[in-house]
Amino acid sequence: MKQLLVLSGKGGTGKTTVAGTFVELSQAKAVADCDVDAPNMHLVLKQANAPERFDYMGMDKALIDSETCINCGLCQRNCVFDAIDFLPSTNENKDQYKVSDFGCEGCGVCVYVCPVGAVSMMPSVDGALELFRNGRVFSTATLKMGSGTSGKLVSEVKQNLIKAAPKEGFAILDGSPGIGCPVIASISGVHMVLVVAEPSVSGLSDLDRIVATASKFQTPVALCINKADTNKEKTEEIRRYCQNNQIPLVGEIPFDQKVVEAVNQGKTMAGETGPAGIAIRDVYEKTMGVFWRIQGSNELR
Ligand code: SF4
Ligand code: SF4
Repeated sequence: MKQLLVLSGKGGTGKTTVAGTFVELSQAKAVADCDVDAPNMHLVLKQANAPERFDYMGMDKALIDSETCINCGLCQRNCVFDAIDFLPSTNENKDQYKVSDFGCEGCGVCVYVCPVGAVSMMPSVDGALELFRNGRVFSTATLKMGSGTSGKLVSEVKQNLIKAAPKEGFAILDGSPGIGCPVIASISGVHMVLVVAEPSVSGLSDLDRIVATASKFQTPVALCINKADTNKEKTEEIRRYCQNNQIPLVGEIPFDQKVVEAVNQGKTMAGETGPAGIAIRDVYEKTMGVFWRIQGSNELR
């Protein structure tokens, strides 16, 4: 399955609008939303049926058995993540040490230091995976707030897609904004990254970090500039960046109020006839041209 991943340096750049429009234009039958911290692809790709749901088991977390605990405080003093709270006695409870739901990193030190075996590591449900099968396979997930295992969950979203649509030749993946574990997990194994950049002060540095990460995976990158007319100077800088780094610039999308309306109505830009709709269709044609050319040349190697 050849995978095209759409990324952006930060949220609000129009990444999901571009990815959702590509899904409609390509009629892709395999789609994944890898933005597990704030998935929103399901808002533009309406689903007729409920999904199959699975618990996502993140890392094990510590649990203190207050009956066995002798309140020595060793676990709290040795937890470098400050994940263990001391709760003074109330009318209902005696003094107790308690592991915070959000702070525990699962390192197991508290289990090791506890002199009476009062701490155990327990499996923890850190999110939910969803798989829709409505003519197309759509894999998505939501990470529970405060869980630090987003990269692992992204890998499971991708695995679910590949397992559920093993015969599909092409997939579109919507990545997470920024850079970090989920982005690294989403780039791993894809065949090309399309970066949606915006002409802002942070746009170029965000872009540079994504390109550097993709190059570590030797994954080809193409780039489009969204809201290109909102800052001509920065747009020119991004053009020069593409030239200097031999990155195909596959188009520039102007700011268009129609995009805001489409987002508010949970629609893609596939059928829009305004400037942004026309530009995104052009970006799509050029992106797919670069994508299949690269796949062809890779197959010849
Ligand atoms: S497992 Fe590690 S992070 Fe979690 S409470 Fe124990 S010492 Fe702290
Ligand atoms: S180290 Fe064990 S006994 Fe001591 S406070 Fe922690 S859980 Fe309780």
